[in-house]
Amino acid sequence: MRYKLIDILACPECKGFPLALDSKKEERLPDNNEFVKKRHNKKSFECSVFCGLKNKSIKTMKSQHIGAEICRDCLYINIISGNLSCTRCKAEYSIVGGIPRMIPKRFFKTNI
Ligand SMILES: [Zn+2]
Ligand SMILES: [Zn+2]
Repeated sequence: MRYKLIDILACPECKGFPLALDSKKEERLPDNNEFVKKRHNKKSFECSVFCGLKNKSIKTMKSQHIGAEICRDCLYINIISGNLSCTRCKAEYSIVGGIPRMIPKRFFKTNI
């Protein structure tokens, strides 16, 4: 999943937002990535509410004069493995093979 997803994902248990990210493995997509290029053309690359890469709300970023250009990387950096956790209800979700598993860990018998 890209960092951009942090701007969209909410906790399926309690609708808590944003989820806290603990990234363990990342890769940067090449600059000529087709998906990213399309987004750039639409000029819609900025995070709109919360930027996962900066770990700050857009409001805070604006007040600290951090430009939205940083969010280009939110589309390019792919989180391959890590954990997401809800700061409200403490539910935890794993990111495995680049895919966030939005089912709370307690539903898994073993820790996959
Ligand atoms: Zn961002
Ligand atoms: Zn929650």
